[in-house]
Amino acid sequence: MESDREFSDLTLSRAECPKCRAVWINGQHTWATGAKGNEEDLAGLVCNTLGNHQCINPKKGVEGGETWEKRLEEAKKFADEHEGDWWNK
Ligand SMILES: [Zn+2]
Repeated sequence: MESDREFSDLTLSRAECPKCRAVWINGQHTWATGAKGNEEDLAGLVCNTLGNHQCINPKKGVEGGETWEKRLEEAKKFADEHEGDWWNK
């Protein structure tokens, strides 16, 4: 029962990256929405671009996560595929 253990853990720790404002709760990166985070995605989206020595993301500098380029590429692909539809509306 992982969640029970977490709730009864009195040494709950919260660390916030002074640079990208990412938050780690008990060592688990958590998105601002409260959803469970992903350090590699965070690195690709934020820390690799904005992070400096202040950044506490252990995955800073790691490639392979989500990146804006990847997102833009997907958005562009989507737009290309659907451009015809938009014009015909
Ligand atoms: Zn950071």
